[in-house]
Amino acid sequence: MSPTNRASDLTGKVALITGGGSGIGRATALAMAELGAFVVVSDINRDGGEETVASVCDSSGQGEFVYADVANRADVEGLITEVVDKHKKLDCAFNNAGIEGEVAVPITEASEEGWDRVIAVNLKSVWLCMQQELRQMQKQGYGSIVNTASVAGLLGGTFGAAYHASKHGVVGLTKAGAIEGGPRNIRVNAVCPAVIQTEMAERSVGDNEKVIGVMRAQHPMKRFGEPEEVAQTVAWLCSDAASFVTGQALAVDGGYVSV
Ligand code: NAD
Repeated sequence: MSPTNRASDLTGKVALITGGGSGIGRATALAMAELGAFVVVSDINRDGGEETVASVCDSSGQGEFVYADVANRADVEGLITEVVDKHKKLDCAFNNAGIEGEVAVPITEASEEGWDRVIAVNLKSVWLCMQQELRQMQKQGYGSIVNTASVAGLLGGTFGAAYHASKHGVVGLTKAGAIEGGPRNIRVNAVCPAVIQTEMAERSVGDNEKVIGVMRAQHPMKRFGEPEEVAQTVAWLCSDAASFVTGQALAVDGGYVSV
C-alpha cells in the first residue's frame, strides 16, 4: 500500500483498551471495532465494560470484556496473558484508564492517600501495562501503544498536583518507550485531551454554568471535546497510517495548549 494512502484501517488487528467501560475508552473501542479491530475491553467497572462490548457487537464489531485493575500487577499480567493466549498477538494497546483524584485541592491540603492512588492508577498502571505489552510486541516484532495523558501532562495548572504529575509522567514514559521500541518497530505515543465530555469531566467540572462557560472559553474552539474526537486520533495513531509517528504527546484539545 502506498505510504501516502493509508487510511486508519485496523482490519485483523487485536487492540486492548483499558478504561474501556466509559467515556474515551468506550468511544475508542467502538471506533477501533468499526475500523476492523477485535477489541479487548478492560475495566474495573464490569457492567460498563460489558455494555461497551455489547455496543461493539450491536454495531457488527467484535470484542470481549476482560476484568483488570490496572494498578494491580497481577491483574495486568493476567490480562495480557489472557489476550495473548487467546489471540496469539497484541497489535495495539490503548492505556487509558484513569481517575481525577482530589480535584482542585492545593498541595498543602492534599492527602498522601490521594497522591498515592492517582499515581498508582494514572502512572504506575501505564508502566505496568507497557512492561507487559512491550514484552509481547518485542516477541512479535511490531506494535503500537497509545497512552492517555492530558493537557495536564503538558501544562501546569490547578486541577490537582498529583493529576498533573501523573500525566507529565505518562508523557515521559511515552517518550522513553518510543526510544526503546523504535528499533523494534514498536511505536509509542500519547494523546493529551483537554476537557472531553465524559463522566470524569462531569464529576470534575460540576454543573455550575458560570464555571462551565469560563472553562469552555479557555478552549480556542469555544467548546469541550467529544470522546469520539479523541477516539479517532487514537485509532489513527494505532493504525499503519501513522507508521512513522512515535514519541509524540499529541494534544486533542481544541487549541487549549496553544493559548
Ligand atoms: P471516565 O471516568 O468516563 O472513564 C475512565 C474509566 O477508567 C472508567 O470506566 C473507570 O472504571 C476506569 N478505571 C478507573 N480506575 C481503573 C483501574 N484502576 N483499573 C481499570 N480501569 C479503571 O473518564 P474519561 O474521561 O473517559 O477518562 C479516560 C482517560 O482520559 C483518563 O486517563 C483521564 O485522565 C483522561 N483524560 C480525560 C479528560 C476529560 O476531560 N474527560 C481530559 C484529559 C484526560
